[in-house]
Amino acid sequence: MKLSRAASFLCLAPLAHACLLPEESAHESVGVVRRQTTNNTGIPIGKADRFNDGTIAPRGLGTQPPGTDLGTLLSVKEIESAFRGLAKEYSFETFASPFKTYENATIFGGKIGGNSKGKSESPRVFFNAAIHARERGSSDNLLYFLGDLLYANKQNTGLVYGGRTYTNDDVRKALSTGIVFLPLSNPDGVAWDQATNTCWRKNRNPAAAIPGNANSIGIDLNRNFDFLWDFPRLFAPTVAPNVASNDPRAATYHGASAFSEPETRSIRWVMDTFTKLRWFMDIHAYAGVVLYNWGSDENQAKKQGMNFLNSTYDGERGLMPDSPAAGIVYSEYVPSRDWADKTYAAMRMGNAMDAAVGRHYEVTQSAYLYPTSGASDDYAYSRSFANPKLNKIHGFTVEFGFGNQAASCAFYPTPEQYHQNLLETGAGFMEFLLSASEIGLGDRGSY
Ligand SMILES: [Zn+2]
Repeated sequence: MKLSRAASFLCLAPLAHACLLPEESAHESVGVVRRQTTNNTGIPIGKADRFNDGTIAPRGLGTQPPGTDLGTLLSVKEIESAFRGLAKEYSFETFASPFKTYENATIFGGKIGGNSKGKSESPRVFFNAAIHARERGSSDNLLYFLGDLLYANKQNTGLVYGGRTYTNDDVRKALSTGIVFLPLSNPDGVAWDQATNTCWRKNRNPAAAIPGNANSIGIDLNRNFDFLWDFPRLFAPTVAPNVASNDPRAATYHGASAFSEPETRSIRWVMDTFTKLRWFMDIHAYAGVVLYNWGSDENQAKKQGMNFLNSTYDGERGLMPDSPAAGIVYSEYVPSRDWADKTYAAMRMGNAMDAAVGRHYEVTQSAYLYPTSGASDDYAYSRSFANPKLNKIHGFTVEFGFGNQAASCAFYPTPEQYHQNLLETGAGFMEFLLSASEIGLGDRGSY
């Protein structure tokens, strides 16, 4: 407990980077990402295919006896096999995004639930996993949770995630929201990270690579979305160097342009295709936090015109606290109703994660972790501001786990941490779906 509290404190300190190691702070990180010389790479990666080429569905900890050991981390091959096994067992709709990755991988996804009153409805909730390659367990958390949800629905049972239990009614309610998901949104990066144990974060696009510099391959996909992407121009000069990077060698290199990458275009495509989406969850590690919009600056609900679209404020964003003496006073507009709904869902999720195994998750606005540009959760929410014809999507990020300081890469969990992460995210995802079903599927007034 002592350790996890220290870790989350570190991550919530100014300029700390939850998905980043301390030495990867954008302005100074152009070098090595392995910080320890050890062969400890955490939980081993599965060698065989336990889903037998897509013929066996994954089942998580929520529908199995306490103490069940799911064994090794899912390999890339097993993530794909588990996905097919799930689709086969429960006959849900699957799809492939039209954009192939640099290494020609397909970004695949599925659509489940959403059936109410006998008709199939457009999904309201979008889960995205593994956008950052090294955050091991992201795909596992999602696939095992969905496996539990579908199993419990079919068997008319509930779910148990450590200290949190859910009834079969809860299961049906959660599924009624309709879920669309991408279990592996950065397939090239994850394959590379699993093959090399290099603590790899980005994708593998070498478009801007510098010959002889291995770290200069790849783009940080979670800085590549079209939300304040052009950070040097849009953020305050003192903040901009920590928001993202223009340097291909950096862990937070944002790419040649917004949506330059097939992976981010695929995520946008899901949002464009499923037009009734209302809730988006991006699954990351590790800071032990649940985050909600915005990530650019402190939220405010009073000045509608003070927002990311208003060029009057270019060069002033991200400074927290503001600097009135320097003439920089900016905070990001969020309608108060939205703010309340986001906080409610995030708090419920954080509380459920706390109750699962007893580790504490902080719940906070993303900008309090550190200001960012081009992130998926903010892009999701920004869409309906930029184009009022689009559905409003609330954006969230969960940073599961608390890190493995003994490993060569702190993002590689121990077997015990992997297990705890599965219990916590299972409870958290359930609560997120129940919140969505209770407070906002978009059927209410002008909401
Ligand atoms: Zn991340």
